[in-house]
Amino acid sequence: MFDTLSERLSGIFNQLRGKGRLTDADIDATARQIRMALLEADVALPVVKTFIDQVKQRCRGAEVSKALNPAQQVIKIVNEELIAILGGESRRLSLAKNPPTVIMLAGLQGAGKTTLAGKLALWLKGQGHEPLLVAADLQRPNAVEQLRVLGERAGVEVYAPEAGSGVGDPIQVSRDSLAHATRHARDIVIIDTAGRLGIDQEMMAQAAAIRDVTNPDEVLFVIDAMIGQDAVTTAEAFRDGVGITGVVLSKLDGDARGGAALSVRHVTGQPIMFASTGEKLTDFDVFHPDRMASRILG
Ligand code: GDP
Repeated sequence: MFDTLSERLSGIFNQLRGKGRLTDADIDATARQIRMALLEADVALPVVKTFIDQVKQRCRGAEVSKALNPAQQVIKIVNEELIAILGGESRRLSLAKNPPTVIMLAGLQGAGKTTLAGKLALWLKGQGHEPLLVAADLQRPNAVEQLRVLGERAGVEVYAPEAGSGVGDPIQVSRDSLAHATRHARDIVIIDTAGRLGIDQEMMAQAAAIRDVTNPDEVLFVIDAMIGQDAVTTAEAFRDGVGITGVVLSKLDGDARGGAALSVRHVTGQPIMFASTGEKLTDFDVFHPDRMASRILG
């Protein structure tokens, strides 16, 4: 991901090397090129606008530095603004004062929620927690089985409707899972909810109902970083329909242009908390805005 954007940016910075002091015209031309590169990478327009305004303003006001030449100075500013657009610092999970902490996962079908549930459970277990995975995606055939397999691999219990008891009610399952967690001393409950292929009122209503009965400490919106421009409408729909407290970017290992990753923080106003980078349970990490910015700048 970001290969094309990285190449474009380094080409732009190369043109500045060897220049003396940058004129306003140089700054405008550079800003225009960066703007094009971001738009081509599918970054949402309002995000591009905010970013470019900041970069231009800071380049104009930049002190002439003895330590940095103009190209280095622009790279430094672009780096800092990329970090800002990605959310600045990483944020830790908020844990409940009285366990269990409830983490609800929401997002479209195929976004990577079920996979993420397993990854998060393994990661939390490694930190000494006793998580419980809850199968509340009763829409997608196989989602319960998929979660059972992941739970087994992670060595984490999966709470699911009894096999053969019909489809089951995801709201009831979610509610009951909290009592189960308390009875079995599980301190973190991770609820995998159902998604649809597109934004759907019924899906949103179900997610909102699960939220209401479980009162989650975190509602993590899982988004496929490969989806490009659709990221903005999807993120807005989940922000408004369910209310989210954080974002997880999945499929960052893909070769998409990366616009979703760069837009979602600004659009939702919520921090990107984790990054999912493959199909294995260990392909997962806390999201670090500074590392992502360095990756983009190469
Ligand atoms: P859900 O419908 O939101 O629960 O999505 P799933 O967890 O079932 O994921 C959909 C597909 O994407 C599955 O084939 C996963 O193996 C795959 N997947 C999930 N996360 C990642 C990731 O970070 N990278 C890659 N390459 N594939 C992923």
